[in-house]
Amino acid sequence: MDAGTNIKSVLGKSVRYLKGVGESKSLLFNKIGIFTVEDVIYYFPREYEDRSRIKSIIQLKDGDECSFEGTVVTGITETRPRKGLTIQKLLIRDGTGTIIATWYNHSFLKKTFKVGERYVFYGKITRKYGHLEVQNPVYEKLQAGEMKNTCRIIPIYHATARLTQNAIRNVIRNALELVEGKLEEPIPAKIRNKYYLSELNYSIQNIHFPNSDEDFKNARYRLVFEEFLLLQLGLLNIKNTLENAGKGIVFKKTPDMEKFIKELPFELTSAQKKVFAEIEKDMESPKIMNRLVQGDVGSGKTIVAVLALFKAVRSGYQGTLMVPTEILAEQHYKSINPLMEKWGIKTVLLTGSVTKSEKKEIIEGLKDGSIDIVIGTHALIEDNVEFKQLGLVVTDEQHRFGVRQRTALSMKGENPDVIVMTATPIPRTLALILYGDLDISIIDELPPGRKPVKTYAVDETMRTRINNFIRRQVQEGRQVYIVCPLVEESDAVDAKSALETAERIATKDFPDLNVGLIHGRMKPNEKEDIMSRFVKGEINILVSTTVIEVGVNVPNATVMVIENAERFGLAQLHQLRGRVGRGEHQSYCILYNASDTEIARQRMSVMEKTNDGFVISEKDLELRGPGDFFGTRQHGIPDLKIANLYRDVEILKKAQKAALEIMEEDRFLEKPENRLLKDKIKEKFLSV
Ligand code: ADP
Ligand code: MG
Repeated sequence: MDAGTNIKSVLGKSVRYLKGVGESKSLLFNKIGIFTVEDVIYYFPREYEDRSRIKSIIQLKDGDECSFEGTVVTGITETRPRKGLTIQKLLIRDGTGTIIATWYNHSFLKKTFKVGERYVFYGKITRKYGHLEVQNPVYEKLQAGEMKNTCRIIPIYHATARLTQNAIRNVIRNALELVEGKLEEPIPAKIRNKYYLSELNYSIQNIHFPNSDEDFKNARYRLVFEEFLLLQLGLLNIKNTLENAGKGIVFKKTPDMEKFIKELPFELTSAQKKVFAEIEKDMESPKIMNRLVQGDVGSGKTIVAVLALFKAVRSGYQGTLMVPTEILAEQHYKSINPLMEKWGIKTVLLTGSVTKSEKKEIIEGLKDGSIDIVIGTHALIEDNVEFKQLGLVVTDEQHRFGVRQRTALSMKGENPDVIVMTATPIPRTLALILYGDLDISIIDELPPGRKPVKTYAVDETMRTRINNFIRRQVQEGRQVYIVCPLVEESDAVDAKSALETAERIATKDFPDLNVGLIHGRMKPNEKEDIMSRFVKGEINILVSTTVIEVGVNVPNATVMVIENAERFGLAQLHQLRGRVGRGEHQSYCILYNASDTEIARQRMSVMEKTNDGFVISEKDLELRGPGDFFGTRQHGIPDLKIANLYRDVEILKKAQKAALEIMEEDRFLEKPENRLLKDKIKEKFLSV
């Protein structure tokens, strides 16, 4: 057995194999996602406590948090001020002074400290009436060699009630001892040298028990870099595989395309033309297209997909468009079907709410090829949906789907071309991480004549004025959305609910107007009914939750009121705002902000100042800081254990560069120096 297989088998062993872990403790570890020795060493600290500074007692000041060394002067004295409370005190001395350590209900300490013994303590120092005191300090007997809990930087882990910091630390220490010096370095020396990356064993050791601040920084840098590198290589690898999965379809030149475009109710913007040209080129080449179309809200992504679908059908193939909600599917169907019908192209709608017999008919039509285009929701992925010749798969509002769902639909054809469209514009570096397996096209222009939505952040004192404004808009024939963060009132959350708001609007504020209510808990046909009445203009004011967030297109709606706007992310506010400003009339967005924090104020001001989705997403990252912006999990990419997509953007850029360099020399990672990288990627991406 060579060293490599040896360490692999150690890493793969159950946590039970480690010193100090019995059956019950191993179950506790399982609960926090730790099953193997490898899981243990990759269970990184959430923060650190610097206990490396040591002071003599005379140097201790009120408020200090530091370590000090001393001799036990008298054994623990215990008092019992009242029932259920005992206080333990210990007098400690060094050559410069004395200090009292205090604990509560720690009777067992009486047996711990013996007069004359030397200890190191760590804790928060207070000085009262000239006496130094430290409450509930960490203590450790002074010994030759390394100290464990004092005199150094100490890792703090995510612990649980039954799995304490000390228990986790000890087990991690044992695991580190076991693998010390044996971890195999996956990053080739050339890359490590070029990007100043420290070696793996050193990095793992120092991420847990850093010898100094500098060692910690080096270790973290390297581990973050590695994580990004693997992610990026993994995505590029998927891209390679996709592109080489066999020959893609070569779609025909489409002479009728020009006529089709001429018959549209508007002229394409040059950005739309540019992006469609990129798609057309991919479609006509034998390469399998995997393309992301990004564009701000209202930039007109749908029509670009329609052109591609037309091309697919005119080349003898079927096409499909998958969207995240029934409302959106319905709406797309209504706008796309008439365009296709003119050309004798049969388009159908498949959602969870079509009847059994309709569904049967659709399934048959797709199988025998009599249906050309199907527009639908997740229902499209179901097993019994089969195509005669699926050539093009379009997924709209991609951020709502994972890689898996996207691929599941593609599997229904033989190497179909794929377009995904997203309305959450994101900075380029992040796009590369989240969609690193795709080519990217950007529609960077809005159709002409769009007036930017005027946005105002207001508070409750403005309610009457805003209501008057809403009334005037309705009198002019326009329609209004009012969006609430909750469906129902809740004791736990202090925010407006759609039910309560609809009630208020319909009975108090606007009893004379037609008010509709729509939310995610309604039945599909109820939602559909409300939506179609809103589209027809029968409803003046639509009270809603975020079910209308994506894609909904009612150009006559000109006012978007958002209650408790402070509860939404900027990207989401931008999406919601994008429901208005879709027609010829000036539109408005009113943000009710119920928070007086500085950060809320700043976020509202970003919304007031810009209508540019790319700028907003950058700001969102900046202001929100670490946190789940898109939910990487939702995108179907592996979780990041240590890297932070926001704080570590500079490292991300370097890792992206390195990934490209590696791939350029060794596209399929076949060289011996890249073998470990390849193994790790397989492991990571398989578990998504
Ligand atoms: P999104 O990119 O947000 O999905 P849509 O595709 O829904 O945007 O388009 C928004 C609106 O703009 C639709 O009403 C659509 O008909 C219209 N539209 C799209 N392209 C153009 C264009 N080139 N000129 C004028 N209107 C357009
Ligand atoms: Mg859209």
